Amino acid sequence: MKLKIHTQILIAILVGVVVGVVLNGHIERAHVAGERLARADVVCKYAAGVKLIGDLFIRLLKMIIVPLIMASMVTGVVSIGNVRSLGRIGLRTFAYYLATTLLAVAVGLVLVNVIAPGAGVEMPASQAEAQESTRQPPTAGSIITDIVPENIVGAMAQSKFLSVIFFSLLLGVALSTVGQKARPLIELFDALNSVMLKITGWIMHLAPFGVCALMAYIVGTLGIDVIKDLAKYMATVGLGLGIHACITLPILLLVFARYWPLRFFRHVFSAVATAFSTASSAATLPITMDCLEENAGVSNKITSFVIPLGATVNMDGTALYEAVAAMFIAQAYGIEMTLVQQIVIMLTATLASIGAAAIPSAGLFTMMIVLNAVDLPLEGLAMIWAVDRLLDMCRTAVNVWGDSCGTAIVAKLEGEKLT
Ligand code: ASP
Repeated sequence: MKLKIHTQILIAILVGVVVGVVLNGHIERAHVAGERLARADVVCKYAAGVKLIGDLFIRLLKMIIVPLIMASMVTGVVSIGNVRSLGRIGLRTFAYYLATTLLAVAVGLVLVNVIAPGAGVEMPASQAEAQESTRQPPTAGSIITDIVPENIVGAMAQSKFLSVIFFSLLLGVALSTVGQKARPLIELFDALNSVMLKITGWIMHLAPFGVCALMAYIVGTLGIDVIKDLAKYMATVGLGLGIHACITLPILLLVFARYWPLRFFRHVFSAVATAFSTASSAATLPITMDCLEENAGVSNKITSFVIPLGATVNMDGTALYEAVAAMFIAQAYGIEMTLVQQIVIMLTATLASIGAAAIPSAGLFTMMIVLNAVDLPLEGLAMIWAVDRLLDMCRTAVNVWGDSCGTAIVAKLEGEKLT
């Protein structure tokens, strides 16, 4: 009997956690036994194998993102046919992105005010990490100018997804407008799209191994003490993400797409699990597209538009996390945040989530936008650094789940029949 890929991935996560726990025991013992090795060296010694497999899996996914975004967006825009339909889809998509992001932040802010996880927390200030936080955060202006590439080849080489998306949209519209003469190029992109999807399918078969290795590495190298110290903060973020993922988004899915949430979740489970283990919406993008087209029956016309854009700008989980983390820092420093300041946090957390790249820890970095806006000390970042990876995994899973629900909703509103 051949197990379905999402069942294989579920088993892979469980096996990965078990292997990770065993690995963690080895690493802690070797470290405590004082083999005169620093913790990082002990980790290297024991976890190198699983790290290698995990890294290879992520590289395979990253390898195809740029050609996949380009080929599928160009074909998608050409098949949408006219600028008016494209505009309508675009409007619906952005309305969904904005509404869900704001809803997520609102949930986060209510919870952080009620639970107050930062009250009474000691403020450590680790030198190295505090220095890290002096890097320049992106500004609203730079986020906008980055959309238009100076050089498209450079943008592709540097994985600047927004620039690649912008250029592909333009290319698609131009190809439709030119018509007959552009036929060979349209067919070329169409063929490239099919080929990229084929490669994605192959990589999907390796996903159980990749996910298992990534989980084993993360659990294996986790410092349990740090988690204990920040348990209340992590629980607040986790609860907020849980409410958004299990209540808000399913209600929207049910109302607007008439899709049974559990059934839909099964269809996109492989993508959500990959997002969880890689902590990167971008790396997960090929799998998200595959799940939505193959399992949920969404057309390439819609996925090719909503998914690449969503992976880059629609990050509900990240926005929620940034708002909670900023308030946590304020509470830990004993700084009162007024209602107006909390509204500023809400808006800047939304902006910061749009500006965050779809890669691990990006949200932590763009959080400087939020902290700057309400004059909170950037050193506060140092204390949440240690537990960022775990929260990043959770928020990335929610980000990808949000993109997936949005795709189903837009497809339904465009009159598609979903399976
Ligand atoms: N890792 C997240 C993503 O790829 C972004 C972040 O919040 O750091 O969606």
